[in-house]
Amino acid sequence: DYALYNAKSEHRGVSVLYSAKHERRIRSERAVEAALQAADLDAEMDVHFQPIVHVERGTVLAAEALARWTSPQIGQVRPDVFIALAERAGIIHRITLMLLEKALASLERLPSGILLSFNLSAHDLASEEAVTGLAAVIQRSGVEPSRLVFELTETAVLRDFPAAEHGMRRLRALGARIALDDFGTGQSGLSYLHRLPIDKVKIDRSFVSGASEPSGRELLSAVVALCRSLRLECIAEGVEDQQQLRHLREIGCDAFQGYLFAKPMPAEELTARFGSAEHARELVHQELLRA
Ligand code: C2E
Ligand code: MG
Ligand code: MG
Ligand code: MG
Repeated sequence: DYALYNAKSEHRGVSVLYSAKHERRIRSERAVEAALQAADLDAEMDVHFQPIVHVERGTVLAAEALARWTSPQIGQVRPDVFIALAERAGIIHRITLMLLEKALASLERLPSGILLSFNLSAHDLASEEAVTGLAAVIQRSGVEPSRLVFELTETAVLRDFPAAEHGMRRLRALGARIALDDFGTGQSGLSYLHRLPIDKVKIDRSFVSGASEPSGRELLSAVVALCRSLRLECIAEGVEDQQQLRHLREIGCDAFQGYLFAKPMPAEELTARFGSAEHARELVHQELLRA
């Protein structure tokens, strides 16, 4: 079952060479890679949207577009798996452009006035032409760039810092905003943070889940305080319970996303459930009051 196949944990340097598990992984990777090469990307891939919610007001501020791929041969494949394979196969930028086009076309079916947050790979900022490609898709869509947020992970930024920084500046010059994704997982120092043209920081969900321990709570508070002192909007990822949300309120985190509020879903569903500000407000208050 490819949907359950966790690339992240299996790639983590554990010596599984020559094991049967390793063999299976290699074989399944090849199968996914082959399916990806053969895929009718436009027909097989889609984007779902997860709401990003204001911690205090409970209103939906943005929706993050998350890629979904259902291969006719092998079924659903997780995005962290197929994105990594697409990067290796050199077809990620083509996929990005196609998904961006779909996400932009969905914007009119999302709640009015919210921002659209979209994940980029390092390859999408690796050259002038790549960034020009993104700009062309935005322009063709007619969407006002100020409604867009581009998310890049720390790891992606550090792969080629000058290119990433330059690409970010170009996207910002169009009017889009930039968020640093999975913040805190990139084994990097913090020294580069103030040098990057970023507007928002998305705090990785490991910091949120870690806050059930006192030391983890301190760490999360420190990260939020750092963002605030740098005047960066902070968004907590992976909020799954009310206690986590309450803690985020206490420490002044701006926004959150997570299963507590909603999982990723099609644009129409998001609008049906949270299209009015009232919906969202009620929901958050209920969640908080139920504790
Ligand atoms: P990400 O950008 O950090 O996205 C957040 C991931 O956390 C999503 O996983 C989302 O479904 C999941 N998530 C949200 N709330 C919760 C929660 O409360 N608990 C838990 N356990 N998980 C939660 P998803 O959709 O599987 O995507 C995984 C990663 O794949 C993304 O992480 C992103 O790095 C990448 N990705 C997804 N779509 C795209 C895309 O269009 N382009 C690129 N380059 N990468 C993408
Ligand atoms: Mg993201
Ligand atoms: Mg993230
Ligand atoms: Mg991630």
